[in-house]
Amino acid sequence: MTKIINCAYCNGTGKDPFELLSSFSGCQVCEGTGQNEVEEPSITCVFCAGSGKNPLGARVPCIVCHGKGSNYCKSTKICDLCQGTGKSSDKLPCLRCKGIGFC
Ligand SMILES: [Zn+2]
Ligand SMILES: [Zn+2]
Ligand SMILES: [Zn+2]
Repeated sequence: MTKIINCAYCNGTGKDPFELLSSFSGCQVCEGTGQNEVEEPSITCVFCAGSGKNPLGARVPCIVCHGKGSNYCKSTKICDLCQGTGKSSDKLPCLRCKGIGFC
């Protein structure tokens, strides 16, 4: 089952939030549509706090949710390796839950 959500990376505008190429360049995540399809059940991406942007500061989409701001997750058990933060000690996605926070 899938559902359509507003693109987190561009806030549903369909434009590149960082205007890397030009102010007319389209969002690379939703390809300019402003919306993305996500697999259900989904939860807000803890790695980027639902922003869709890479929390490490690079002007690229979140490496866990790929810019969508939410992740497919059918578990409600918080990952005990990262305590649900989705991050490992080196700030990379948790190896056990792959950055989702649940496993
Ligand atoms: Zn977008
Ligand atoms: Zn994310
Ligand atoms: Zn984890």
